[in-house]
Amino acid sequence: MYAVTDPATGELIEQVGNATDEEVRAAITRAHQGYEAWRRRPVGERAAIVARAAELFAERTDELAAIMTLEMGKRINEGRGEIGVVVDIFRYYAEQGPTLLADEPLAIKGGEALISKEPIGALLGVMPWNFPCYQVARFVAPNLVLGNTIVLKHASICPRSAAAIEDVLRAAGVPDDVYVNVFASSRQIPWMLADPRIAGVSLTGSEQAGISVAAEAGKNLKRSVLELGGSDPLIVLDTDDMDETVKATATARMRNCGQSCNAPKRMIVLGEIYDEFVDRLTKRVAEYYVPGDPADPRTTLPPLASVAAADEVAGQIAKAVEQGATLRAGGRRVGPGAYLEATVLTDVTPAMDAYTEEIFGPVVVVFRAETEQDAIRIANDSPFGLGASVFGTDPLRNQRVARQLEAGMVYLNSAGGSQADLPFGGIKRSGLGRELGPAGIEEFMNKKSIRL
Ligand code: NDP
Repeated sequence: MYAVTDPATGELIEQVGNATDEEVRAAITRAHQGYEAWRRRPVGERAAIVARAAELFAERTDELAAIMTLEMGKRINEGRGEIGVVVDIFRYYAEQGPTLLADEPLAIKGGEALISKEPIGALLGVMPWNFPCYQVARFVAPNLVLGNTIVLKHASICPRSAAAIEDVLRAAGVPDDVYVNVFASSRQIPWMLADPRIAGVSLTGSEQAGISVAAEAGKNLKRSVLELGGSDPLIVLDTDDMDETVKATATARMRNCGQSCNAPKRMIVLGEIYDEFVDRLTKRVAEYYVPGDPADPRTTLPPLASVAAADEVAGQIAKAVEQGATLRAGGRRVGPGAYLEATVLTDVTPAMDAYTEEIFGPVVVVFRAETEQDAIRIANDSPFGLGASVFGTDPLRNQRVARQLEAGMVYLNSAGGSQADLPFGGIKRSGLGRELGPAGIEEFMNKKSIRL
């Protein structure tokens, strides 16, 4: 069941019925029927519609941010920031798409060839609640420019975001058989993927959802892109401004109330500066992050996306403490609603669940490393491999460390960001494939070889 529940109060605002099997099949039929005409439109026309969508997202920033605040508790300013990134993504693919899709000449033995960049058909998107607009944008914008059509199943806690996105795209001129929102349930996904009219699937969400979607896609020989969880390390080698380093790391961790796949979740700090880092970070986290109304721009700590999510993270903290971790700050649920105090944990060892699990909430775990190599070892000792960060004063040393990290992306002296022109994605259990940048338009592309 799709429902809007205000996480700040726990109040149920609206329920939206799931689509029937017949309605889901009709959505696939539409996207399939829309494909031929859409792919045949000149790329410039598709790009112009995507550019228009960028302008409409910009115009409707406040409305979309307010919906996200209501549905999943995002701080209103962060919601506005998220729409800013959405606008950038639509603009980027509108501007760069035609160049990225140009034929690529290839000199081959005994002649010449070219690579023609073509779409593959109707795609299924399965999207999460943590960035309701951004996650959809990075899948939809490149694929619309490429000429694919889309059936979109959004998370069951954000039906209003799902409907508003469809509305913006429609107003921009995306035909109603090119982007189709459907309130499907995850139980309908397997047969949707078995439908020969669906050419591929992109999912952002949990490891479990990723495993089940990838298995169904594999069974049906469909391409899948998976953006799953992460437990990104942030290594602090040294610093000439401890306050700034502490502030930057805390800000990156607490963004979106800690519910970002690529937030730095494990701070790994060299021994000489570990004690000072932990003291200042604990002070910052305990004093700065105060639970409040996410609709108030002054609020520093909003609720999590749902009461269930807050309970789950509180349970992970309690278990870590029970297993011997040290609780330096926070740790308690605050009610009513889905609030959880901003938390700092130290002395987490490999024997504890918190060492390997992703903690999807406002919780910083700090590890002590004796040497640079020790820091790299701890960073890589994780089932995940999404992003990573290295903070340090020596650029060459930072790069040397970056190259040894098992991650899909590394940020030097910054953490957890995302931008339209920089490819995003992970390795290991963090997923398959890339979104954004030039790589993001290639995932559902038929790179057709034409031998001349
Ligand atoms: P889910 O993975 O369950 O939800 C993401 C999307 O996948 C939703 O649309 C959901 O639908 C759908 N889905 C869930 N299970 C299946 C399935 N078996 N087959 C097909 N689709 C499915 O995320 P949760 O809300 O449960 O969050 C749990 C954890 O996932 C978080 O704690 C975090 O670790 C991780 N996560 C990671 C995100 C990221 O950005 N990488 C984003 C969100 C979560 P429905 O809502 O209808 O269940």
